[in-house]
Parts: sequence; C-alpha cells; structure tokens
Amino acid sequence: MKVDVVIVGGGVIGSCIALYLARARRAARVAVIEPDPTYRLASTPRASGGFRRLFSRPENIAMSQYSIAFFDNFDNEAAVDGYAPDLGIKRQGYLFIAQAAFQPQLERNYQTQRALGANIELLDAAALKRRFPSLEVGDIGAAAYSPEDGWLDPNSLLQGVRKKAAALGALYVEDRVTHIRSEGGRAAGVTLERGESVDCDVLINAAGAWARQICKMVGMPLPVYPMKRYDHYFECNVDVEPLPYVKDMARLAMRPEGKGFTAGVPNWDEPRGFNFDIDHSYFESVVWPAIAHRVPKFQAVKLKSTWCGLYDQNALDTNMILGPWVGGLPNFYVAAGFSGHGLMHAPAVGRAMAELVYQGGFQTLDLSNMSYQRVVDDTPYPEQGII
Ligand SMILES: Cc1cc2nc3c(=O)[nH]c(=O)nc-3n(C[C@H](O)[C@H](O)[C@H](O)COP(=O)(O)OP(=O)(O)OC[C@H]3O[C@@H](n4cnc5c(N)ncnc54)[C@H](O)[C@@H]3O)c2cc1C
Repeated sequence: MKVDVVIVGGGVIGSCIALYLARARRAARVAVIEPDPTYRLASTPRASGGFRRLFSRPENIAMSQYSIAFFDNFDNEAAVDGYAPDLGIKRQGYLFIAQAAFQPQLERNYQTQRALGANIELLDAAALKRRFPSLEVGDIGAAAYSPEDGWLDPNSLLQGVRKKAAALGALYVEDRVTHIRSEGGRAAGVTLERGESVDCDVLINAAGAWARQICKMVGMPLPVYPMKRYDHYFECNVDVEPLPYVKDMARLAMRPEGKGFTAGVPNWDEPRGFNFDIDHSYFESVVWPAIAHRVPKFQAVKLKSTWCGLYDQNALDTNMILGPWVGGLPNFYVAAGFSGHGLMHAPAVGRAMAELVYQGGFQTLDLSNMSYQRVVDDTPYPEQGII
C-alpha cells in the first residue's frame, strides 16, 4: 500500500492530526496505524479531561484557546451524518492555588493570559475563601481562577474525532508499526506486525508514551518517557459548593465527577516505564492527606476506584515536541512529549501539523519554540505555571 502520510498512533493526537490533514486536502491518502481500537492502555481515555488557559507560555495559552473553541463547536467540527458525540463539557472553572513565593510568577502568567484575551481572575486568600468557602486557604499566597475553563469526556472526544477523520477519508489500519524503512535520507514507509508494508511520503510519530520506541526505529533521540500517574474516584457525604478543577502546590489535581470527585497527585520520581500496576496504598498515604488538607470537609471520604495511565513525559522541559526531525530524516515528524496536557491541545496540534506537512511551516500560530531544535540545542522551553 502507498499513502501520502502515515500517522503512527491513533489516540487523540494522531486522530486530530488525521482530521486536519484530511480536511485540508480531501484527496489526500492518510493512514493511521493503531494496534488497539479499544485503546485499553492508551493515555487518552485515561485522562482527566481538564482544559485550561492557565499556562505561562503564550503558545500553550493560544493552543488552549483554539482547542476550547473547537470543543465548543464539536457538533459542527465532528458531525458525521448530522451527529457528533456529546463531549459532556463541564465549564465549572479551573483554579491554580500557589504559596506566597510563587505569587510573582502567578501574576506574570496572569498578565500574559490577559494579554491573550483570557478571562482570568487573581484572588488573594480572603477572596478565594469567599468564592469557595470549603477550601483551606491558610497556606496560600494567591490563586488564579479561570471561570470559563473546565473538563470534558476524553473518550467521547477521541471517538468523535476518529469517526470524523475516517468519514473524511483517513484510513485506520489495525496493526502495529514494527519497523521503519528509510531511503535516500528520507523515511520511506513502515512495516507492520502482520507483515504488510505501507509506503509514504511523510511519516508522523504520534505514539504518545510509546513515541520514543518509534523514534528508536530510525535512530532519533527523543527525551520522552512513559510516566505512570494515578487517578482516583471518591465520594463523601458532605455538602460543598460546586468546585472548579483545583490544582494546588501539593500537586493535587482534583475536580467534581458525578456524585463524587476525582483526584490525583503525580509522583515525578515514579520510575519511568510501561508499568500499569496499582499501588493501593498511594491514595491513603499521599492523595487523601492532600485532599483532606485542601478541603477539610473531606476528612472522611470513600475511595471507590483507582486507575492509572501514562504521561508521555518530556524530560527536557515537560512541553510538547512538534515538527520534523531537525538534523535527521526531514520527512519524519514527531508530535509527542505532552507531559500531561495533550488532550486539551490536541485540535491545535492537528492544525499545526497539517500546516507543517502541507505548507512547510506554521501558519496560524508560530510554534517554533516547540520544535525539535531545542532538543538538538539542549535549550529547554519550560512552563512557568504548572504546579
Ligand atoms: C491520569 C492522566 C490524566 C490526564 N489528564 C489530562 C487532562 O486533564 N488534560 C489533558 O489535556 N491531558 C491529560 N492527560 C494527558 C493526555 O492523556 C495525553 O497528553 C494525551 O492523551 C496524549 O494523546 P496521544 O494520542 O499522544 O497518546 P495515546 O492516547 O496514548 O495514543 C498513542 C497511541 O499510539 C499507539 N501505539 C503505540 N505503539 C504503537 C506502534 N508501534 N504502532 C502504532 N501505534 C502504536 C497506542 O496504541 C496508542 O493508542 C492525562 C494523562 C493521564 C495519564
């Protein structure tokens, strides 16, 4: 088989890229190679679904703004035969809580966010307490509240985008890439587990936590590693006001979900690797103390379930790596290293990759700072806003 573009990995990133490629050139032949249509271990369905403009880098804020508009317009963006899945958007706000030492950074971020048109409020401890009386604020300096942000259902997003991309002509191949062929200094195609070969003009690595394995097939160093991250669902018998998606300096990430809440505390020291084992003591020893501290009414909660998924963690600077392999095969592209915020940026990534592939450069939003060049130069471009 010969196609114009092969995309390795059909999660939300690969599927958004396929959607934008198919939209830009209806006659293009785009093949998405995805071994598991149930996405059992993929990161996308395991995500928490949060979307926010609370970033420090203008690129990340602008990507969120574009992607959130896409989510809002999902009925049109993803409609197939007049139907698109309901994303279950909950626009209940997003809150970053910081200690006093972090306040100047929070204020700088706020200026950048406001300059880009985001509706963000800076709150001191007293104002935060008035807004959300259940929160403990004794240890905080300031908070940034983004009332128009929130969360959505990741699997509905993935299924809707995938279906739309397929309806526009993208071909989903249920198989696994095991080998990449190169010829004359260019990527020429892939070999699949079942033995088939697919030739292509352009190859895009959107394999998430597995992206480094794909890069190894062509000898490209990629500083992206799988990092396990737990999420927990709990319930409790107390009344609290409608809470936003809360992130605090204990690295607690917590939001309402149905009758209860989901919460997680990433462990940056977690050994990197493809490990889906669950340590059932983690909630009790790490997460519950953080929850009970931030919301004292949550002293007694009932843990209902724990699951985990993989971050595609960029060890250089925890930001995405987008674009061609600078210094290597020029038609081998990467879209990986999202480090825990790929879902909310996926539509903007799809648009950017289609521009790179078809027009040779970023058009609507300059994402050069996210390119592989910074890996080559060893110049990190870190966020200054992620708690
Ligand atoms: C617990 C948790 C919470 C999160 N919360 C949020 C959040 O609130 N907001 C947010 O924006 N992001 C969040 N994220 C991050 C988000 O899930 C990811 O950034 C995003 O899903 C990455 O999508 P992806 O398509 O790159 O990866 P994936 O969904 O993992 O897709 C990659 C695909 O590549 C396929 N693949 C692997 N090897 C091969 C091969 N050899 N050949 C072909 N295909 C292959 C896999 O089968 C997989 O389906 C969270 C992640 C986790 C784990």
